[in-house]
Amino acid sequence: MSRPILIVGAGLSGAVMAERIANDLDRPVTVIDKRNHIGGNCWSEIDSETGIECHKYGSHIFHTSNREVWEYISRFTEWNTYQHRVWTSYQGRIYSMPINLQTINSYYGLNLTPEEAKAFIQAEAAKENITEPRNLEEKAISLIGRPLYEAFIRGYTLKQWEKDPRELDPSIITRLPVRYNYNNRYFNDTWEGIPLHGYAKMFERMLSHPNITVQLNTDWFDIRDSISPDTLVIYTGPIDQFFDYRFGRLEWRTVDFTIERHNCADYQGASVINSADPETPYTRIHEFKHYHPEREDTGKTVIYREYSRFAGEGDEPYYPVSTEINKNIYNKYKILEYENDNIIFSGRLWLYRYLDMDVSIKENIIKIRLLKNKLYEK
Ligand code: FAD
Ligand code: UDP
Repeated sequence: MSRPILIVGAGLSGAVMAERIANDLDRPVTVIDKRNHIGGNCWSEIDSETGIECHKYGSHIFHTSNREVWEYISRFTEWNTYQHRVWTSYQGRIYSMPINLQTINSYYGLNLTPEEAKAFIQAEAAKENITEPRNLEEKAISLIGRPLYEAFIRGYTLKQWEKDPRELDPSIITRLPVRYNYNNRYFNDTWEGIPLHGYAKMFERMLSHPNITVQLNTDWFDIRDSISPDTLVIYTGPIDQFFDYRFGRLEWRTVDFTIERHNCADYQGASVINSADPETPYTRIHEFKHYHPEREDTGKTVIYREYSRFAGEGDEPYYPVSTEINKNIYNKYKILEYENDNIIFSGRLWLYRYLDMDVSIKENIIKIRLLKNKLYEK
């Protein structure tokens, strides 16, 4: 195959594919990104005033139970031993999140054992008699009962999505486990950590192959008419934009961060504290220094307060909004993918799906493996 290869998007999807094409297929490949940096939403950079590494698009914690993914990505970085733990603030008190025995006992002022707590919560959930949960609210109540739902889920979800939880897909809440012990780890995966030298270094290493050329500040929509027709294009941008929004725009949630620097060693005592109170306008506070406990402490800290809202034109798309209307629009675009079978499509913006990093890596490793098999007819 001598066709030029162009990847649109230098996020995790584009970077994995570029790396695989350069190393495994031994083919030259150009990667463009409209932003002024590689790494997409996983990008991190050092805050010049405090020396603390901040995740520019919100906290990113790598976690996986897939050995192939772990071994693959560990070729580009070492890891620290960080394990994610989140707390949530509700009416002036702090509770464990996801909901565990500490959350249950503290909220109800009880001292239940695991077995007792399970029976207690099941009895709370049974009060509403939900057999087949049709939406996020019903799903949450069927898992934890109404009081815990009203305290820890409803307010946060309203702020996060600006939709009634009864309009949202139940799958959103099943990302969070419910535990009847004091395990307060956010993720259950075998491997977890933050790149020891940061995400930026990890991406630089992935893309630093002589076969790879990276062009930043380059938008696909500005160059698409000028590329040579035999180019194999791999597109990881938004699906609706690719088709010039002909069926309308897909809704996204975006987030705004306000950045505060404080002259104290520790502002909140944890990397993430959520706010469950509906009257508090932000959803959570990230304090990035906690992601690198192994680094020297400068006695300063930087926090990002996160505010969620609907994305307008020009805003960064963060979370797809899982409603029937959006699913219908998405399906109309998705059919057009088959009419463009000379282009490879990938990534969270194309799939209109929340994809953890490990899933993104796996999908793109597999995509290039299939391409290789096709090229060499294995
Ligand atoms: P992106 O990272 O979005 O990259 C796409 C790239 O394409 C961008 O750089 C964009 O600029 C570029 N692009 C788009 N259109 C064009 C165009 N027209 N021309 C040129 N370039 C273009 N996963 C975890 O495993 N752990 C976490 O803790 C975690 N936290 C997250 C927190 C948030 C708030 C979000 C939204 C996601 C989180 N994720 C997390 C998921 C993770 O961000 C994704 O798995 C990952 O970003 C997917 O990479 P991608 O390349 O598909 O998309
Ligand atoms: N959620 C909640 N309260 C919390 C944390 C999460 O109600 O304290 C709900 C909310 O609807 C959110 C979903 O659970 O959208 C998934 O949470 P997760 O932490 O996985 O979301 P992310 O970190 O990706 O924003």
